[in-house]
Amino acid sequence: MEISCPACGKNNQTQVSPACARCGCDLASLRLIMTGAVWHLKESVRQLRTGDWGMALQNAEQSWALHHSPRAAQAAFLAATAMGQTGNILLWRHRARE
Ligand SMILES: [Zn+2]
Repeated sequence: MEISCPACGKNNQTQVSPACARCGCDLASLRLIMTGAVWHLKESVRQLRTGDWGMALQNAEQSWALHHSPRAAQAAFLAATAMGQTGNILLWRHRARE
């Protein structure tokens, strides 16, 4: 997942150094948050494949809470759709299009 430095905005930070290549900002905490977001998203996708809709939605929501990615919103949308949760379907469809 792409990381942008919150201090200077530099994109595509490498995983080699914990510091921003441009300004030296410490990105270690941000990388941990992104790792958590990716982990929850992967769990959500795995649970979508096995039909565990409730856990898929929960993990997608946790991924979204850590990082607002379109893929997390799409996973939540699919899980909400499978469970027929109309309010959640509309919410996640809107977020997936942002
Ligand atoms: Zn920077």
